[in-house]
Formats: sequence, structure tokens, C-alpha cells
Amino acid sequence: SEALERHEFGAEVGRLLDLVVHALYSEREIFLRELVANAADAVDRRRFEALTDPALMLPGEAKLRIIPDKAARTLTLSDPGIGMSKAELAQHLGTIARSGTLAFAKSLADAPAAEKPSLIGQFGVGFYSAFMVADRVEVTSRRAGTEEAWTWASEGRGEYTLAPATRDEAGTDIVLHIKSDAEEFLEPIRLQTIIRKWADHITIPITVVRDGQEEPANEGTALWRKPKSEITEEQYADFYRHVAHTFDKPWATLHWRAEGAVDFSALLFIPGMKPFQVVEGERESPLRLHVRRMFITEDAKLLPPWLRFVHGVVDTEDLPLNVSREMLQATPVLGRIRKAVTNRVLSELKSRAKDAEDYAKFWENFGIVLKEGVWEDAEHRQDVAGLLRFRSSAVEGWTSLAEYVSRMKPEQEAIYILAGDSTDALAKSPQLEGFKARGVEVLLLADQIDAFWPERLDSFDGKPLRSITQGDIDLSKLPLEGEAAAEPADLAPLLPLLKDALKDEVADVQATDRLVGSAVVLAAEAGGPDLQMQRLLRRAGR
Ligand code: ADP
Ligand code: MG
Repeated sequence: SEALERHEFGAEVGRLLDLVVHALYSEREIFLRELVANAADAVDRRRFEALTDPALMLPGEAKLRIIPDKAARTLTLSDPGIGMSKAELAQHLGTIARSGTLAFAKSLADAPAAEKPSLIGQFGVGFYSAFMVADRVEVTSRRAGTEEAWTWASEGRGEYTLAPATRDEAGTDIVLHIKSDAEEFLEPIRLQTIIRKWADHITIPITVVRDGQEEPANEGTALWRKPKSEITEEQYADFYRHVAHTFDKPWATLHWRAEGAVDFSALLFIPGMKPFQVVEGERESPLRLHVRRMFITEDAKLLPPWLRFVHGVVDTEDLPLNVSREMLQATPVLGRIRKAVTNRVLSELKSRAKDAEDYAKFWENFGIVLKEGVWEDAEHRQDVAGLLRFRSSAVEGWTSLAEYVSRMKPEQEAIYILAGDSTDALAKSPQLEGFKARGVEVLLLADQIDAFWPERLDSFDGKPLRSITQGDIDLSKLPLEGEAAAEPADLAPLLPLLKDALKDEVADVQATDRLVGSAVVLAAEAGGPDLQMQRLLRRAGR
């Protein structure tokens, strides 16, 4: 037709199509998982946008229909989701927005066979998996809140077309022209089996048309609503990968039902691997809020930012289904849920921390995030402090504040810490000499945030925290041990000479009992920022 527009794919798409189609050939059935996930996402997004714009509300019962047609050799997926405008069709299906082909290709080459299929979902290239089973794909879509529809079509070879179309309701139809060697995907029973395997946790109803009848294909029972005893570890792990967009195994799975002050079911996961984004990226918790199974939003901040590595779902009875954005901001229900969920996660960490080796896996991934809690959350500060782990001048491996306190010398008044850029460098610091000579342990802190949080935690178990680079530390009550226990030299005559020589460089020169082998050490003024903090401030240009 005249209105048909031809477009080249974005530069990387062609190569990507090739990769997806060939590298994952043996796992072709996952195309259905990807398209179903996109449809479910589109329905979720429409429900979410309807919170602020009621005109976008879903009509009646939203469901995803899958229609195989053997005569026409097409497979159609039809969803009532948010839909795509012309520009969105071009952008979302014609370019690769998030991650490059190269990164994807590299991961694909490196991943074990079993993990390859999940990579497509991870890299945001799921749609292209349709070309594993189809030699032509047509997407007809109408954006919710608009009147016009467009058809995007491609044979997956370098170009796609856009043409005006009609669609009665908002939503999207994806028509796959099935390849001759992929006819199995026109069999309703085969389709139902794939959906049960990959998409059973999708909460909108999915139907497959078989002999002219619509048959339900997913159980749609939200996994978190099922009793624990009916859920296998593999089902938990599958659901985890779905909500966390990842392919590892969860380190912790927390599944419980709360009744009382507020009623909700929660299914939460702590990842077994550190995602790339957790430190630098988004700071808000990604936990999903559902009301009576229906997805509402992932912006409800159901956990504080310092627990943002926790993924999962909270589903409550205590809000109405047609909850609005204003209501979400005003209701006390979310505050109660937040409190209960935070405490539950903390108590899980506390109990898992008893197994040091197991806890170290968690700590090495997310400790750096947890430390933010000491800095910014007065209410949970002491609990979080108990969960921290440290390198130390006295013991191998990780140690806790409680263990440190149990090893303190009888005359020792404070928990001593030293912050810097690497634990290796810290372990060799002359600042430690006087402490080592007295058998006093010092915790070595090498994360950037370690320059900040100790200032907020004034004490643990009644013992103050002190940075050893601060000038006023008095070790005189602690006896020297071993060789170091010699007579101290009389420095009184030397001090005025040094003070005079360095008067433009330092505020003061004092005798110290903190050194044994070295002659001098730099110290920070009592009460001011410690040396690592001063270094960071200088780097930040302040
Ligand atoms: P991802 O889902 O990870 O973003 P995909 O390749 O699966 O990557 O999909 C690309 C984008 O195309 C989606 O992010 C979405 O914006 C859009 N899209 C795909 N399918 C649909 C659909 N059924 N309805 C609305 N938008 C869709
Ligand atoms: Mg997708």
C-alpha cells in the first residue's frame, strides 16, 4: 500500500537476530516465554498507568489469548496491554535500547548451555526470539489512550515496515508466520505444555484456542499464595529469575504470610550473585506490590534503599484493587508492611549469619549496600551494625563487632578502626604499630562508605568506635607486649624543634605511644574528620 514505510534496523539488530536464531536453536520453545512475558508486562504497565489516568483502565477481565491456526500456519498472541504507538514500535522493535550486541554475544559465548536461554531475557532482546520459529512477524498495536493502530512487520533480515492498521481496542497482536520446521508450535497441546513449564507464575489468565474453544493454559495461582509445602525449589528459583531478571540461584528465599496489624503474603529473594547495578544504579527497592494477586506497582518502596538487593512480591488484602497513586502515598498500610518486611529480612540475615561461611557469600555481594543502613537509618542502626563484617589486624577472614568486643583487652576502652583504600595497604600501615605492640585489634575498612557510617554509630555494645588516625587516642593504659616493652625515649627536647620546622605544614607535633618501629605518623585532629574522610573530601574537591 502507499502508506507502507520501509526502515532499516538499528545497526546492531541484524547481527543480534543472527545470534539469537542460531545460538539458541535447541531451545526454540523459549520464544513463547519471552512473548508471554512481554504481554504480561504490557498488561502490568497499563494497570500501572491507569493509577494516574483512569481512562486507561483495563476492560473487564484482562487475558492473553494464544491462537494457533494450522491452515494459515500462523500463531497469534493477543494482549490487552498498554500497546505501542508508531514511534514506540520503531523504537522498541527496531533498535536495541539497553545493551549492545557485543555484550550479549560475549555472555552467550561464556555462559554454560543451561544458562543461554535466560540470557535473552536478561539482555532485553526477548522479542527477537520470535524469529527462531517464524520467517515473518507482524505486530499490530494500539497504544492505550490513543485511536490509531500500526502494523510493524519484518522477515528478520535487515529491515522492517510500518503501515497504518485498525484495532478495536488498545493492545497488541503478534502474528508469527511459522517456519516449516517449527510446525510443532501450531499444536495447542504443545503450546499449553510450554506455558505450564515457563509461564505458570504469570498472573493474568492465558488461554490457548483449541478446536475453536478457549482453554486456560496457566494455573495463574500466584506462587506466593500457595502453601510452601506445595512449592518445589525449582519453582521458587524460576519465579526468582522472573522477578529479578537474572539467572542465578537465590541465596535466600523468604516466603511467609503475615496476619494481624496488616495482612499480606510475601515471597522475597536475596540474590546469589551481585548484580551489576546494585551499587551504582537505582537506589529504591524493586519489590513488587500486588493487591489480591493483581500487580499494582514496583514503586511502593516496600523496603528501605539499603535493602534494595532484595527482590520479590508483597501481596496484600488491605488495599482496594482500584487503589490510586494518591492513596498509595497516604495509606498507613504500606508503612506497616514496610516495617514488617524490613524486620523479617533483618531477622533472616541475623539467623543466616550464624553460619559464617554461608553468610560470607551474602556479605561479599551486598555488605557494601547494607552499610548504608548504619549511615541513614537510625531506627535499625544497631541491628544493622550487628550484621556488619570486617577485615581485622588480628584475625583472618571476616569478623563481626560482637566478636571484636569479645576479644578486647580488659583495659581497652574503644573499638578501633582504620579506614583507607585497600585492606592490604591498611594492614601495613604504620598507624597500626602501637596497637599491634599492645596486642590491640584494629578493624580495617576499605569501602568508600566506610569513611562515613562509623561517625553515625557512636557505639556498639556500649563501646565507642574510634578511628585510630584521630590524634587524641591514649594507649598508655594498655601495656606493651613482647620486644616493644622497652623504655620509651625522652622526646621532650625534640618537640619544639619539630614544631618550628613544620609550622606551615601541620597544626601540632605531639609525642605518641602509637608508634614502635616508625619515627612519625600523621594524625587527624581530635573531633574532626579522620584521615580517610579528609582524603575523600580532597578528592571531591572540597
Ligand atoms: P524487554 O522485554 O526486556 O524490554 P523485549 O525484546 O522482549 O525486551 O521487548 C522490547 C520492548 O518491546 C519491550 O520493552 C516493550 O517496550 C515492547 N513490547 C514488546 N512486546 C510488547 C507488547 N506485547 N505490548 C507492548 N509493548 C511490547
Ligand atoms: Mg521481554
